[in-house]
Amino acid sequence: MLSFAFSAEQEEFRRQLRKFAEAELVPHYRQRAARAEFSFEAHRQLAALGVLGIGLPEEYGGTGEPDPITLGLATEALAYGDVNVAAAPVQVGLVASQLAWGGRKAVVDAWLPRLIAGEVVAAIAVTEPSGGSDVAALRTEARKVSDGWLLAGEKIAITHATSAAVGLVYAREPGSKGHDGISCFAVDLDSDGVHRTHTPGMGALPLCWGGLSFEDVFIPEDSLVGELGRGFAGAMSHFDFSRPALGLLCLGAAQASIDEAADWATKREAFGRPLAAFQGVSFPLAEHATYLEAARWLCYRSLWTRDTGGRHTQYAAMSKWWPPIVAKDAIEAAIVTFGNLGYSTELPLQQRYRDVASYLIADGTAGIQKRIIATAMMGRAAAQ
Ligand SMILES: Cc1cc2nc3c(=O)[nH]c(=O)nc-3n(C[C@H](O)[C@H](O)[C@H](O)COP(=O)(O)OP(=O)(O)OC[C@H]3O[C@@H](n4cnc5c(N)ncnc54)[C@H](O)[C@@H]3O)c2cc1C
Repeated sequence: MLSFAFSAEQEEFRRQLRKFAEAELVPHYRQRAARAEFSFEAHRQLAALGVLGIGLPEEYGGTGEPDPITLGLATEALAYGDVNVAAAPVQVGLVASQLAWGGRKAVVDAWLPRLIAGEVVAAIAVTEPSGGSDVAALRTEARKVSDGWLLAGEKIAITHATSAAVGLVYAREPGSKGHDGISCFAVDLDSDGVHRTHTPGMGALPLCWGGLSFEDVFIPEDSLVGELGRGFAGAMSHFDFSRPALGLLCLGAAQASIDEAADWATKREAFGRPLAAFQGVSFPLAEHATYLEAARWLCYRSLWTRDTGGRHTQYAAMSKWWPPIVAKDAIEAAIVTFGNLGYSTELPLQQRYRDVASYLIADGTAGIQKRIIATAMMGRAAAQ
């Protein structure tokens, strides 16, 4: 039988997180968002709520079995209060799941409990100056030495470049080409030879975006995550849960904006009537509410298909290209509903707009997601 119901446990968790988002995150969202500084205070609150261990092994402090739907629910509920803070379960989930299922024991023991406890954050470093969409073109090299590798190269546009303690760094064997020869390494970012730079951006400042360069950084044998030379294939399956979760992240922030605009439309008067009385105001809000609802269920469909073991790569890609656009457009409509106030920094709307815009690009642009969907539909002929 078809059902759109979440379990009673999931509903209760969602209620608890939404309450937390409204009481604890909303009041200081703009102050946090204005600074390129990661908020460990809010992050540790998430850890205390159990949000950072969703679907991760119990022995390290997680909830146990993979649980993509609950991860999506948590992300959406938290984004209602602060879209930047809400990215944490996705980022931790993405790194920690790769470590948990592909890392060597010493490295997993060293980082997983600390990631789940909210003591440290982690980065994923794929993008380079030579390109981000075409991952197979990456140039960073890992040169084998007797008891490990020497890492040399440059990564740009990396979330948590200036705040992460550890990074999953993708690098290739010297002389290898394309997807072959790319491996993933867990790198202590305080190692000798690692240099970090901050890159100013139009939003998402607390996610500490920037560059990482590696100058013959020694990484021991244990650093390898997954199979040698097959790091890219290993990573891809994890992006299939992070993409719908990021879609829901954008939609949570957009829902807050539409709710605020609807409330304003009942209070603000023009021409002697509340704005809500004008269909020119109320119908666009009704339309955006519809798009948000449709996009939400696309994301949950993707997470549910993953949860139940079905093929979901194309749904994950759909959930990453469309929902951020739906969310951005809804926030824009909310800004217009508020008139001059919507554009001012007195309200959180302009900030949400800039923060959500980061997901038009981060974790793969719409163009790249559509390429994935087209390939699922038409095979490799569509991937040229
Ligand atoms: C806020 C933010 C956070 C990020 N965080 C991280 C991170 O933590 N780790 C990380 O590794 N990277 C991160 N990135 C980088 C991001 O993944 C890349 O920017 C993205 O993949 C695009 O790569 P690029 O910028 O090199 O653009 P390019 O690859 O140069 O692409 C430029 C344009 O061409 C289009 N294009 C390219 N090839 C095709 C094609 N075959 N078909 C259709 N269109 C195409 C793209 O869609 C895009 O519009 C982040 C980016 C942002 C903005």
